[in-house]
Amino acid sequence: MAKKSEPKNTMRKKADLPQKICASCHRPFSWRKKWKDNWDQVKYCSQRCQGKRAQPTQSADCNTQ
Ligand SMILES: [Zn+2]
Repeated sequence: MAKKSEPKNTMRKKADLPQKICASCHRPFSWRKKWKDNWDQVKYCSQRCQGKRAQPTQSADCNTQ
């Protein structure tokens, strides 16, 4: 019984990035470099999902500018 307590909080993998759920395909996706400036506004995992607009009946975020 020489099993010492394993450090639980040392599970630092590469996947230490923030994640979100795609609003279109509802799959989790991770932070990417290209989103470093607008991560808060990212809702879709890919441009493909962004173009889909599967649920147009959500709060209208019309950026009319
Ligand atoms: Zn998606």
